[in-house]
Amino acid sequence: MVDLRSQYQRLKPQMDAALQQVLDSAAFINGQVVQEFARSLADYLGAGYVIPCANGTDALQIALMALELQPGDEVICPSFTYFATVEVVALLGLTPVFVDVNPRTFNVEAEAVEKAISRRTKAIIPVHLYGQSCDMDPFLELSRQSGIPLVEDNAQAIGAEYFFADGRKAKTGTMGTIGCTSFFPSKNLGCYGDGGALITNDAALAEKLRMVANHGQSRRYYHDLIGVNSRLDSLQAAVLLVKLPHLDDFIRRRRAAADFYDAAFKDNPYLTIPYRSPYSFHVFHQYTLIAKEGRDDLVRFLHSRQVPAMIYYPVLCHEQKAFAGKGRVAGDLPHSHWLSERVLSLPMHTELDEEQLQYIADSVNEFFA
Ligand SMILES: *Cc1c(COP(=O)(O)O)cnc(C)c1O
Repeated sequence: MVDLRSQYQRLKPQMDAALQQVLDSAAFINGQVVQEFARSLADYLGAGYVIPCANGTDALQIALMALELQPGDEVICPSFTYFATVEVVALLGLTPVFVDVNPRTFNVEAEAVEKAISRRTKAIIPVHLYGQSCDMDPFLELSRQSGIPLVEDNAQAIGAEYFFADGRKAKTGTMGTIGCTSFFPSKNLGCYGDGGALITNDAALAEKLRMVANHGQSRRYYHDLIGVNSRLDSLQAAVLLVKLPHLDDFIRRRRAAADFYDAAFKDNPYLTIPYRSPYSFHVFHQYTLIAKEGRDDLVRFLHSRQVPAMIYYPVLCHEQKAFAGKGRVAGDLPHSHWLSERVLSLPMHTELDEEQLQYIADSVNEFFA
């Protein structure tokens, strides 16, 4: 699904030098490079503050901890998402409230969330799934009116943009109360291990997030809160600092691959190509098709052709064994069920050449021929 080796080969001279520099400095934790990366990412995103942490799951957990949610408080989130989004909610003793997604965009919408709000709702987690922004104008309006904070799960969409109705635009992860992202190697901006970050424009909240991520310390050995230990290490920050200036090029390459796939499948009556919403700049973390029929056979056929197609996600979060008897489901989630039976994702990364794309596209179309 991804080709991290070829990307490394292209960046090797810069990458090796950056890693060597960390080795020579021996500042493996909290090295200057971590601060430098955080500042560079904040600049890139146009955000006030970036607080690095150990992974995207921790980022979500730290966000909910900093908002001081209490056991029993409800957090509204999609069920059609990666498990980590909702896992942290349950881990903190909070109640996930699962809502349906829009079947065209794969994303949650404010309208469905609003209907699921109760007296106990204390946070909303919009997930920018597959690299496309949720429709944020209505979410921001809902958050303003209700006072309920928005925690954006931006793990799949770093670099994506949202176009507001009034003509302004913003990067995903920078619009809500807190944005969370992941630098897992296969993400659009991936390091060579685990990494994550929190994003906010609120100085006081940034300070609190920093404290929660660092044992609740206000200064060394003075612990004001119960926190966690969640750090981005210097080697990973060095990798990310090398890659960040290439992120727009990475996105351009992903979008070019998506354009190729679109052209190959737009006339295939059995497939629906990914919808590109007019309010979003899609960064194609995944290229996800909807197969009207035969999805599982198609995936098996592709595997027999050495094409690594994947299903993200075959089981909705609220139907996972781990969630048996937990959480609240807002309705039957018909769109989420419908999608989980029909979606499949094709190889998507920065190193796909025309020959590979053609082979993948031909294999898919041949299945239906
Ligand atoms: C990858 C991912 C996460 C978790 O990130 P990790 O760094 O793997 O912990 C959370 N939410 C979504 C939607 C993801 O895709």
